[in-house]
Amino acid sequence: MKEKGILIVVSGFSGAGKGTIMKELLKKYEETYALSVSATTRTPRPGEQEGREYFFRSVEEFEKMIAKEELIEYAKYVDNYYGTPRTYVEEQLEAGKDVILEIEIQGALKVKEAFPETLLLFVTPPTAEELRSRLTGRGTESAEVIEGRMKRAAEEAEFMDRYDYLIINDVLDECVEEMHQIIQGEHRRGFRNTAFMEHMKEELKGE
Ligand code: ADP
Ligand code: 5GP
Repeated sequence: MKEKGILIVVSGFSGAGKGTIMKELLKKYEETYALSVSATTRTPRPGEQEGREYFFRSVEEFEKMIAKEELIEYAKYVDNYYGTPRTYVEEQLEAGKDVILEIEIQGALKVKEAFPETLLLFVTPPTAEELRSRLTGRGTESAEVIEGRMKRAAEEAEFMDRYDYLIINDVLDECVEEMHQIIQGEHRRGFRNTAFMEHMKEELKGE
């Protein structure tokens, strides 16, 4: 029987490199991982496609999804709603994929509460200066928005210790490989292997 996948939450400061890491991880290990696509009420950035980065929805549509309990979790972040559609996540976990949610902290903590076996990973650049430089370099936000995101990062930093692992995104390739190793190690945790243990105990009794 195929082992059920692990639910993984990846959070981190805006500009830390989460999107970049996810893209590389999925390219390298496409059979292993499934990335959940969230719904949001924010407007698309240049280059973003409906159904690829996000499902872009109106506030009314989003509130309907909440009412119908179609979202595992949702949160408001910088004046917009963001939420995780339930069906895809459940299907992919059943199919044995490790499912990654790239979501902010309020949502991450809600997922952990609802599903305590969730693995929580927090991505950070090596320094605050590097964070500012990545936000500026991405070139998708105004100076004012960047200031807002730096302030938000200072608030979010208070929650880093609620995560299971800290992932420091310095050299991209190394960071991607480290994240993969952490997740694969997680599969070997005792509490995720109770069925195997029971089976082994039964077999040994018969020897
Ligand atoms: P997030 O999804 O966390 O908001 P992005 O993936 O959009 O962050 O990355 C922010 C910017 O930093 C992008 O321009 C990206 O190319 C760059 N970046 C990501 N990882 C690294 C890295 N390890 N070294 C240098 N630049 C990086
Ligand atoms: P951005 O607008 O930069 O794409 O995302 C802003 C923040 O929303 C990021 O921290 C991102 O991880 C988070 N986010 C994206 N999707 C979801 C979601 O479905 N739920 C929650 N709670 N946060 C999300």
